[in-house]
Amino acid sequence: MPLSDRVLMGPGPSNLYPEVVAALTHPMLGHLDPDFLSVLDETCVRLRTAFATTNALTLPLSGTGSAGMEAAFVNFVRPGDAVVVGVNGVFGERMVEVAGRHGADVVRVDAPWGSPLDPAAVLAAHPAPALIALVHAETSTGVRNDIEPVGAGKGDALLVVDTVTSLGGIPVEVDGWGVDVAYSGTQKCLGVPPGLAPLTVSDRARERLVERPSSWYLDLNLIAGYVASGTGRTYHHTAPVSMVTALHAGLGVLLEEGLVASWERHRACGTLLQDGLERLGLELVAPVSHRLPQLTTVRVPDGVDEAAVRSRLREGFGIEIGAGAGQLAGKVWRIGCMGHTARPRNVALVLAALGEVLGR
Ligand code: PLP
Repeated sequence: MPLSDRVLMGPGPSNLYPEVVAALTHPMLGHLDPDFLSVLDETCVRLRTAFATTNALTLPLSGTGSAGMEAAFVNFVRPGDAVVVGVNGVFGERMVEVAGRHGADVVRVDAPWGSPLDPAAVLAAHPAPALIALVHAETSTGVRNDIEPVGAGKGDALLVVDTVTSLGGIPVEVDGWGVDVAYSGTQKCLGVPPGLAPLTVSDRARERLVERPSSWYLDLNLIAGYVASGTGRTYHHTAPVSMVTALHAGLGVLLEEGLVASWERHRACGTLLQDGLERLGLELVAPVSHRLPQLTTVRVPDGVDEAAVRSRLREGFGIEIGAGAGQLAGKVWRIGCMGHTARPRNVALVLAALGEVLGR
């Protein structure tokens, strides 16, 4: 089966929108070429729409989603700052690690993996944290965490939110929810290859930028000149021209479809998939109230070799699904339905193939 037929239903990357594939073959331009700079400017405008924000400092950082996470901490955490981190999966754990490396005094608020965080517990964890950090869509568990109540009660703290798996797939309201710093990735619900970290920073957060962060590459004081001033629109390094062009195209597809329509497509496919998995007698991990449509965690039945099932799906049907991660390694599969992949046809295919492989 040709690799071009592979259906990517793991936790990411998802399949690429055809418009993105076309954009990746666009002739190379210089990174200061006015024709490229107008693509870059328009990409930032599109990102503001996707994030639902008017933040001037909104741009794609070079590097995958993890670059966004690192930038969110290295630019806003000073040694000894109290940083509250919600942890109910791999990516909350990673935030603890990254914040700690940048000198934060981390206060973690845990919830069992598979359950959402309790916003009241997050707000009660410290009387005056410098920063509160949450993962919106936990890719390791398929659980959505509520952001809005934490934004409403954050007080003087900055609120950092990881939207790597949520942006484009479910509502993300940066301004409406009081989020100060949000970052994402390109390879999930945006249908673009991995390689950029869309980032947005509120004016309030910009006033608190660390002057000389320990990372030169991710120093927003240096990068911010490009979008913020409206003059000298350059990164302080060579812009990843082809990736920005691909993201421009992916955001174009998203906004042409409409954010609400994209959320609805993801919701419908997620429901179709989750209902179908339950009909196969499989058990879903996330509670229905906080279940992500774009990433479903499903328990591996007793006695089933989970890796063999994934291999048979890939080799026999050209479908990739994901293994469990962290505490859930070996116990679950993670089935993504994101971006261009989120189509009823792909859901029907994975359900039929899984039914056959499991003999159900
Ligand atoms: N945050 C979340 C919620 C993720 O799912 C991921 C990747 O899967 C990351 C951060 C890290 O992103 P990347 O792997 O693109 O660096």
